[in-house]
Amino acid sequence: MYKKLFIPGPTHVRDEILQAQAAPMIGHRAKEYSDLQAQVTPKLQEMLHTRQRVYLFASSSTGVMEGSVRQASLKKVLCTVCGAFSKRWYEITVANGVPCDKLEVPMGEAITPALVDKALSSGEYDAIAVVYNETSTGIMNPVPEIAALAHEKYPDVLILVDAVSCMAGKDILFDEWGLDVCLAGVQKCFALPAGLTVCAVSDRAMERARQVPNRGYYFDFVEQDKYYQKNQTPATPAISLIQALNVQLDAILAEGTAEREARHREMAEIVRAWAKKNFGLYGDEDYLSVTVTNIANTRGISVGDLNKELGKRGAMISNGYGALKENCFRIAHMGDLQVSDIEWLLCQIDDILGLA
Ligand SMILES: *Cc1c(COP(=O)(O)O)cnc(C)c1O
Repeated sequence: MYKKLFIPGPTHVRDEILQAQAAPMIGHRAKEYSDLQAQVTPKLQEMLHTRQRVYLFASSSTGVMEGSVRQASLKKVLCTVCGAFSKRWYEITVANGVPCDKLEVPMGEAITPALVDKALSSGEYDAIAVVYNETSTGIMNPVPEIAALAHEKYPDVLILVDAVSCMAGKDILFDEWGLDVCLAGVQKCFALPAGLTVCAVSDRAMERARQVPNRGYYFDFVEQDKYYQKNQTPATPAISLIQALNVQLDAILAEGTAEREARHREMAEIVRAWAKKNFGLYGDEDYLSVTVTNIANTRGISVGDLNKELGKRGAMISNGYGALKENCFRIAHMGDLQVSDIEWLLCQIDDILGLA
């Protein structure tokens, strides 16, 4: 049976978008492709409120996390860690031999500007990596405040943001906040099938990349930019996904980025209220995510059994991530899900668990 996904990626994809992917193939060096990318790019720029470049990579987000840390620093990267995905970015940085240190807080807590200030004050760093929405814990780090702090006191520090599980849900003001790299795979809040990653890159980040000798090959921004100028990509792009993205961006912009965030927030508030009534919320309540809610399993239910029952009714939620597997479960309210979907889901859970 088809299950509607309430997991934090991949998310539910509308039929119209699935169909947009089925358009005939076009040559990636043909005018048809350049025309497509020339339509998509300004829409992405509008969505991210930026006049700077937005690249498309045929890769899941992890690839671009790797590519971006390889070309961001001539000194050391400060990798902030507050859960599984931010830990992954730190591990990627280490694996690539890029000098770095980790600034870690316990799971469920946020990276605060004060902590970042203290770490950056050593003067050792010229880049900071932050996960905007830590999908494993359901915590959103205060990225605009961290960026403001960095700009005020540490002007050489590039701000790299993994916005994988919130871009196209949470509104992102790339230029106003002064971000340098902001990336996201499209299988989460964009509500597209997986396999494509969008990445905004600032002029500052481009300048830095040009100075880094071992940028790697596939994600090299300098090479990417040569093709970007012609509305192309160096290697074969994910053409079908870009065709679907073109259609989806029209829907995102028609809804409005602020309105889209408001819808995500409304769904989050409904799930949080339900969680508080029936279970508990995991993590610091001052920094809860608007796209995914991590619920403390205070009743000790079997999340596996709940998901089996939900599956029979056509839905799927997520268990806790990693170490939180049994202690939590997650409900994603991202992408094209509507308030009515969330209300329906919570009714089903009430019914299965006998809560109502
Ligand atoms: C899902 C996720 C990733 C990994 O994305 P892939 O597209 O699977 O590589 C990275 N960071 C965050 C915050 C995520 O939610």
